[in-house]
Amino acid sequence: DSLARIGGDEFVVVLADLVKVEDCEPILERLLLAASKPIAVGDIVLNVSASIGVTLYPQDNVDADLLMRHTDQAMYVAKESGKNCYHLFDTVQDDAIKVKRKSLEAIRSALDNQQFVLYYQPKVNMRIGTVVGVEALIRWQHPERGLLNPIEFLPVIENHAMMIELGEWVIDTALSQISQWQKMGLKYPLSTSVNIATVQLQQSDFTESLIRQLAAHPDVEPRYLELEVLETSALDDVQHISTIMNDCMELGVNFALDDFGTGYSSLTYLRRLPASLIKIDQSFVRDMLNDADDLAIVEGVIALAKSFKRDVIAEGVETIEHGTALLQLGCELAQGYGIARPMPASDIPAWVNDWKPDVSWE
Ligand code: C2E
Ligand code: MG
Ligand code: MG
Repeated sequence: DSLARIGGDEFVVVLADLVKVEDCEPILERLLLAASKPIAVGDIVLNVSASIGVTLYPQDNVDADLLMRHTDQAMYVAKESGKNCYHLFDTVQDDAIKVKRKSLEAIRSALDNQQFVLYYQPKVNMRIGTVVGVEALIRWQHPERGLLNPIEFLPVIENHAMMIELGEWVIDTALSQISQWQKMGLKYPLSTSVNIATVQLQQSDFTESLIRQLAAHPDVEPRYLELEVLETSALDDVQHISTIMNDCMELGVNFALDDFGTGYSSLTYLRRLPASLIKIDQSFVRDMLNDADDLAIVEGVIALAKSFKRDVIAEGVETIEHGTALLQLGCELAQGYGIARPMPASDIPAWVNDWKPDVSWE
């Protein structure tokens, strides 16, 4: 083994030919112990300690310079954890950080290069047979990987400033789209909903930013814009979120509580958040035909919505039978693959024109 002083109070130890990873541990313990032995200088006793950063080659498969940098990073962790200890560089964690950094860069460039698009999924009234609106759902038109669903990229930026930028792009694009459809004169005036991320809703200037965006589209009546918030968004501060929602509603914008029933305190949110629409989460709807518990939840949510005078829509309506069952329970609004999949904006006018409710729903 080699020990070298590379400057100041920094040393490098190279332990060669370890059979297994754990074999380095007794040596590291001995080094710590040796370094922490009190030293007498004249009348003074000095107590020093060492902090050691460790990396293992070839698990950490990089060149000598990078190996040194990794031990350095690990050493800082050892110092932060109270000194007089060693810390092993985590290649798995380091890889994860690198992957995350790469994804963030890719999303940044996708934003700059206009690779995001909005798809729209119709929402209908099954009983009277009208299309009541559409939900805007983001997609990434990736140059190599094709069309990506939000699950592939939104989690990366969940708590990142880019989420706010992307969210503003979504609202702006949806407003432009509403205005375009209005000019074309669709069969029904469509209310368009957009999904709002928690970080975005919690921004102190959320309302101001919405005012600015609405002002940039003076031909769009705010009542045609609906904001879908996850009930989990409110977890931190229901009071704050409900104030923001009330301010936005004064502008004429509507709110929906998305994925209703999946959070911790659905009832509290229902009572305290002024959303006009609640969306029954698709996990309950999907299995309501063969799971009595899910059916009971769907029934319960519909009854709750009625008592609280909110509209209710079922998401994830995958078949005609789901629709029929929902109608029997008194839920008329629906959205799901059984009615239409999300589609590009350009397909919406023809779809809206042609759609007819299933005959069994009459
Ligand atoms: P969500 O808002 O609850 O949207 C419904 C999701 O269910 C969409 O997935 C939709 O394509 C899918 N879906 C609709 N009908 C059915 C059905 O019958 N069966 C099944 N299995 N799925 C159905 P998508 O587009 O992949 O979006 C997933 C989630 O990502 C959304 O859930 C929403 O929370 C989030 N999201 C989508 N677009 C945006 C956006 O622009 N901003 C933010 N912050 N979140 C977004
Ligand atoms: Mg939604
Ligand atoms: Mg949902």
